[in-house]
Amino acid sequence: MSRYQEIKEKLLSTPRTWLVTGGAGFIGSNLVKSLLQLGQYVRVLDDLSTGYWENVAQVIKETGHQKTENLTFRNGDIYSLETCSSLCEGVDYVLHQAAQVSVPLSMEDPLLNNRTNVDGFLNMLAAARNSGVKTFVFASSCAVYGNDPELPKTEDMKGFPVSPYGLTKLMAEQYAALYHSIYGSRPIGLRYFNVFGPRQDPGGAYAAVIPRWISMLLSGRSPVIYGDGEQTRDFCHIDNVVQANILAACTVNEEAFGQVFNVGCGRSTSLNELFGLILDSMRRTGLDVNGPRPIHEAPREGDIIHSKADITKARTFLGYEPQVSVSQGLERSIRWYLDNLK
Ligand code: NAD
Repeated sequence: MSRYQEIKEKLLSTPRTWLVTGGAGFIGSNLVKSLLQLGQYVRVLDDLSTGYWENVAQVIKETGHQKTENLTFRNGDIYSLETCSSLCEGVDYVLHQAAQVSVPLSMEDPLLNNRTNVDGFLNMLAAARNSGVKTFVFASSCAVYGNDPELPKTEDMKGFPVSPYGLTKLMAEQYAALYHSIYGSRPIGLRYFNVFGPRQDPGGAYAAVIPRWISMLLSGRSPVIYGDGEQTRDFCHIDNVVQANILAACTVNEEAFGQVFNVGCGRSTSLNELFGLILDSMRRTGLDVNGPRPIHEAPREGDIIHSKADITKARTFLGYEPQVSVSQGLERSIRWYLDNLK
């Protein structure tokens, strides 16, 4: 039996209390859904700035009423220490996802970015410590590596972020490591690579590439590629990210605390290849997509050129093993967007 399966069975027999910040967002709502399916008690803290109540409502619907009696939702801001503290009270595990998530917006408004990703982060870290939370798992990002050309990315590389977003994620990691060494807190940082899947927002100026392209193709429009399309990403389906969070929260490996782990698939795909994979997946779901070709525009400031995770550390310390490939994940996502982009 895999470590993940073992942990899920243990959780099913002994439910715990979890706080998911950013639980109305893309990654957070998928975490909430999996936890509810495992019979856990889940609190959500979200200010609905980029997340949606509809995401939570959909999770409630998909999970079934009985299990969602275990869910409580608070519309609040992690910038308030009081809010963070009251929600951490009596919690076993925190999965901290709330953040200012847009690289371009962080370039436009570094102060807002800092307020959420450093001040808000520190509030959550402090509140979790004061409440005696067992493990504080938090979302970091491959943006901490910046444009260092060395590939694949390993966690011991020195990061040179090229955006305020990347810098604040690195600062959060350093605060977490410091809390571990001076207070004995048990934080674990997960450096997500390019996550995709159901409930990822295809709208807005800062939407991620996969939902944006799928939604454009479904409505017969041509997607935009910034640059020549040869830039690469390690795309990772949300189910792999959920796995990493649950493994990290429940780890009994003392050496994992105070550390950061790459969470990707260990494979890189160029944007040009991605475009082809999306078209293939659409055809497999029975859609007729022969028309639109991508439009190329100038590269965007702050965007990373190449990215690929070395996931050995997460495998070794946490037992992480990605189970959903990019193609499988694209097909699942397309089916979801077909049902939900009405
Ligand atoms: P998202 O925008 O869907 O989710 C973020 C959630 O946080 C939203 O629901 C938003 O309303 C909430 N939020 C923002 N500021 C808040 C505040 N001050 N107080 C309370 N709630 C607040 O984005 P996501 O893609 O689900 O990202 C989740 C986490 O994963 C973020 O920390 C992000 O930086 C990180 N991450 C995501 C990716 C990716 O590919 N999606 C990659 C690397 C890292």
